[in-house]
Amino acid sequence: MAIEKRGEQALQVSGFEYAPALESTDHVTIANRYGLFIGGSFVEPHSKRYFPTINPATEETLAEVAEADAEDVGAAVRAAGIAFRAWSQMDPSRRARYLFRISRIIQERSRELAVVETLDGGKPIKESRDVDVPLAAAHFFYYAGWADKLEWAFPNRTPRPLGVAGQVIPWNFPLLMLAWKIAPALAAGNTVVLKPAETTPLTAMLFADICRQAELPDGVVNIVTGAGQTGSYLVAHPDIKKVAFTGSTEVGKLIQRAVAGTGKRLTLELGGKAANIVFDDAPIDQAVEGIVNGIYFNQGHVCCAGSRLLVQESIQEPLLDKLRARLQTLRLGNPLDKNTDIGAINSKAQLEKIQGLVQVGLQEGAEIYQPACQLPERGFWFPPTLFTNVSQSHRIAREEIFGPVLSVLTFRTPAEAVEKANNTPYGLSAGVWTDKGSRILWMTEQMRAGVVWANTFNRFDPTSPFGGYKESGFGREGGMHGLLPYLDLN
Ligand code: NDP
Repeated sequence: MAIEKRGEQALQVSGFEYAPALESTDHVTIANRYGLFIGGSFVEPHSKRYFPTINPATEETLAEVAEADAEDVGAAVRAAGIAFRAWSQMDPSRRARYLFRISRIIQERSRELAVVETLDGGKPIKESRDVDVPLAAAHFFYYAGWADKLEWAFPNRTPRPLGVAGQVIPWNFPLLMLAWKIAPALAAGNTVVLKPAETTPLTAMLFADICRQAELPDGVVNIVTGAGQTGSYLVAHPDIKKVAFTGSTEVGKLIQRAVAGTGKRLTLELGGKAANIVFDDAPIDQAVEGIVNGIYFNQGHVCCAGSRLLVQESIQEPLLDKLRARLQTLRLGNPLDKNTDIGAINSKAQLEKIQGLVQVGLQEGAEIYQPACQLPERGFWFPPTLFTNVSQSHRIAREEIFGPVLSVLTFRTPAEAVEKANNTPYGLSAGVWTDKGSRILWMTEQMRAGVVWANTFNRFDPTSPFGGYKESGFGREGGMHGLLPYLDLN
């Protein structure tokens, strides 16, 4: 992609043209149409309705996917209920073997999964290949290890599975969110009904096939595709014992209302507006990479994205100069190209949301910087964007944009940095860049954020719990903490 000179600073472009390096799609077969995965088979939906899932980089239809109605959801919950009897009684070391097998098959089919994730969701292939798919396999591998050690994990308690878990996931990390939800549930002896997001159902369909390949007993995993309505049927079903949701705070609140008083367990992993805080003693080049990774990774479709940059006033100018120069080298384009840094926006609706909020930022007086880059004609695209002159009251500093848009604010003292970082209804994540270990520890204690990264950003590991405070939700996924919501310990 050609990048020209533009913008207030007219920075010199030092990049060079890359030859296309497209990942092959030859090894991938996508069916024309997918049914619902219920009781170990793909079945026709009772609703008789299907909807298209498209490639957001080209707007071409990839496949048709079934839209589950209340009857379909009921059938899936029944299948999971029947499977629960044997699965929960099974020797835990046998359960572990199934999870290890799933992990191994994900690794074996990793290229196929990465390509389908990129086609269906628009994310760069290097991200689905190096982050999403390996982490999904790692989650199954990690939780497989817990399946036969639950008694030792919770001494003097008798851990028991809950029953059927209803799980609703978003479109930003489709396979990885599936793994976050399904792996701990199964390790703890529960069975599941999962609803993938409407715009990214395809890797869940491949995962259904992986369950068959692993000879997982029928009904242990059921997958019902559909839109928000399908999710609401699942959450409301009386035989669901535990609801796990990742998505917007707005829908999280609806779900919390729907399950209130039912006795269902609930975990909510919602939005965020993370502060990425850079002190004047930070290693500046590393910090620039961390800022870029924090907000432009996965087009900013990341709940824990570092969407508010808090930079110490004394280094604002040199840091922003380097950041603008770095933005000019980001390559936007075909997500299947291994050189691509910024892929397609996941959907038209999401693109419109980003465009709307960027417009609000301009109206509120913030100053925009975008490197000049050619956006492909078809598909949904938004260039990496930087706003300066942002104040805390601006909507672009308060609301989750969920796109490649960074708002820059400044601070003078650590106390001011903490106050600004915590001045948000969210509390999911934060980043601190400084040379001083003691300052990192002090900042970590002061900040109301579930995860605080020090001199890095967006690092994930299955052994480490992840989750939020305030409007970012409650409950933790990952690590031993991630087992707790799926167990009765009394
Ligand atoms: P939603 O919260 O609507 O979607 C998340 C999941 O919930 C999807 O599977 C969705 O289905 C489903 N869902 C929607 N409505 C209901 C309901 N009433 N009951 C049960 N399930 C439901 O997020 P959106 O896709 O609409 O994105 C909107 C905004 O949410 C984004 O701009 C972003 O700010 C934020 N978001 C945050 C995420 C995070 O990781 N924290 C992830 C995704 C979005 P369907 O996809 O079919 O609509």
